[in-house]
Amino acid sequence: MINDYNCSASDILVAIGPSIGPCHFEVDEPVVRLFYESYGQEAEGLIEEKENDKYHIDLWQANVLLFNQAGIKDQHITLARECTYCDAEKYFSHRRDKGRTGSLAAIMQLI
Ligand SMILES: [Zn+2]
Repeated sequence: MINDYNCSASDILVAIGPSIGPCHFEVDEPVVRLFYESYGQEAEGLIEEKENDKYHIDLWQANVLLFNQAGIKDQHITLARECTYCDAEKYFSHRRDKGRTGSLAAIMQLI
């Protein structure tokens, strides 16, 4: 939006739709290392250590941090906070359904 439409970051509104939540985005240590390489100390707030050398990562907040770094303020970011893994009635989930699943889509329009 900034590069192609010459928008100011202060005018951009962000919506992060349903997606896997921190309750279910489980990873191993190598992925955690990559998050520390990308986010530095801010990664600490994104990662929760679990049992059996597993970790849960908050991708919702990770994306908010990236938008903040691009100049978009928190008050311009809306998070659905709906975990697609948790709600099998409403959403497909690649992880929950072991890859045998559908896809999600969203439609947005510039007016
Ligand atoms: Zn969940």
